[in-house]
Amino acid sequence: MDCLFCAIIKGEIPSKKVYEDDNVYAFYDINPNAPVHVLVVPKQHIESLDAVNADNASVVSLVMQAIPKIASQLGLKNGYRVVSNIGEDGGQTVKHLHFHILGGTKMPDKVC
Ligand code: 5GP
Ligand code: ZN
Repeated sequence: MDCLFCAIIKGEIPSKKVYEDDNVYAFYDINPNAPVHVLVVPKQHIESLDAVNADNASVVSLVMQAIPKIASQLGLKNGYRVVSNIGEDGGQTVKHLHFHILGGTKMPDKVC
């Protein structure tokens, strides 16, 4: 399977690591859309939130639990935004589940 984020998790492609534990990896986005833009991913390959099921939900829960820890580590005391794009219409370009943490400023362009 050819997956960019699996290659990043394995260290085959370099990344600027922010956080790592047994199940979760977080790194700076290469093309930031905010002063702080970090991607949080499960080490297990899951295609998107659309592929979450009873078998992998515990891993997704660990990713969700890591997000506030990572935001705190990044100093995002005044809030932040979490985005997960899903599939073609959602604008997902990398088909490995990831959550964008965006912050460091008042986020513009609210879509909901
Ligand atoms: P998506 O568009 O799928 O929601 O988000 C994919 C994100 O991955 C984009 O924000 C893009 O900038 C980021 N990205 C793509 N390739 C790389 C890479 O090689 N390294 C890093 N750190 N981020 C990447
Ligand atoms: Zn993957």
